Amino acid sequence: MKSAVESFGLKLGNASGVFRLMRARKRGALVLFYHGVEHEITDSDIQSLQVSFTVFRRQMEYLHRNFEVISAGQLADRFEQRHAFTGGEVHLTFDDGYVNNLEVVAPYLHSLGMPFTVFVSTRHIDAGQRFPSYYLKTAFRFTEAANADFPSLGTRFDLGTAELRKHAERTVGCELKRVEQARVREIVRDLEALLPAERWVELNERFRSEAPMSWEQVRSLTMLGATIASHCHDHAILHAQQPHKEVQAQIALSRGRIESEIGTACTQFAFPNGARGDLTQESITELRREGYRLAYTTIAGELQVDCNPYVLPRAPAPFDLDRFKRLVDASSLLEGRHHYRDWARTFS
Ligand SMILES: [Zn+2]
Repeated sequence: MKSAVESFGLKLGNASGVFRLMRARKRGALVLFYHGVEHEITDSDIQSLQVSFTVFRRQMEYLHRNFEVISAGQLADRFEQRHAFTGGEVHLTFDDGYVNNLEVVAPYLHSLGMPFTVFVSTRHIDAGQRFPSYYLKTAFRFTEAANADFPSLGTRFDLGTAELRKHAERTVGCELKRVEQARVREIVRDLEALLPAERWVELNERFRSEAPMSWEQVRSLTMLGATIASHCHDHAILHAQQPHKEVQAQIALSRGRIESEIGTACTQFAFPNGARGDLTQESITELRREGYRLAYTTIAGELQVDCNPYVLPRAPAPFDLDRFKRLVDASSLLEGRHHYRDWARTFS
C-alpha cells in the first residue's frame, strides 16, 4: 500500500504544470484515509499510524484552497444519482476511532467547515480496548523476555537480538492478518502476556495516541461535522478464512451498536486492512443485506460513478506534504493502477 503511493509519487516527478493539466482532466472524487493526527509524535514506530498536526494542517489548508471537501452523505448522493463529479471533490476519512480524532482532528476541520467520516470498530469503543497492531508493535519492542511462548500459534520465539524480535513481530503480524477472528483474540492475549500489567499501564499512558474513543466521545465528534460509520465490530479482516457467522456478526453488530449509540442510520463501511484479499463476495452480499449503501477498500483509485459501490477505492494520505499535493492534484492517474477496476468488477 505504502510502496504503491511512493512509486506513484516518484513517477509523477515535480512538473507542476503537468499537474494542473491533470487536475482539469479528473473525472471522479478522491477519498483519502488517515488514522489519526497528533501534535507530538515521540515514537514513529509505535505511532506509525499518526500524522503530525503540522503536516496535516498544511494538507488541509491546501484542500481548503483548491478542492471541494464533501461529506459522506454528499458523496453517496452524488454517486448514487450518477451525478457527474466535477473532479474537484475530496472526502476525508479516518479509520479505527482514535481519541485524537476528537481532540485534534475534529476541532480543526470544524473551524475550516470541512466534514469528514470516522470508521469505528465498535467493540473497541465498547471496551476501550486497543487494536492488535498496537499490542504487536509494543509487546515486541518493550519486552525484556529472552523468548516468548505463543500457544495461539503453537510456537516459541527466540527474542535474543533486535533482529530476532523484528522477525517475531513480522511473523505474528502476518498471522494476525490471515487467521480467523477467534485466533486473533488468542494471539492478542499472548502478546499481552509479554509485558507485566503495570508496564502496559505505563505504555498506554505514554502512547495515548493509540487509544480508542468512548461512545461519549464519538457522540461529541458528530457535533463537529463527523459521520460515524462501520469498520467491523472487532476490526476483523473479512478475508476468505473468516467463518460465515463471523462475517455476518461483524457487519451486523457494528451497525447495530452505531445506530443505538449515535441514533442515526449507519450506511457506510470500510473494510479493515482493505486490500484485495480482505473482502469477499460473501462479505459484500452481507453488507447489502444489512442495508449498507457504500463500502470502501484501501486500494488507491479515483471514485467514479461507475465504480462497484461495495468495492470503492480510497487512497492512503501520504504523510509528506509534497507527495500529498501530487496525489490530490493528479488522482486521475490512479485510474487503472493495479487493474483495480477490472478486479472490482468481478464482484456483484
Ligand atoms: Zn483499521
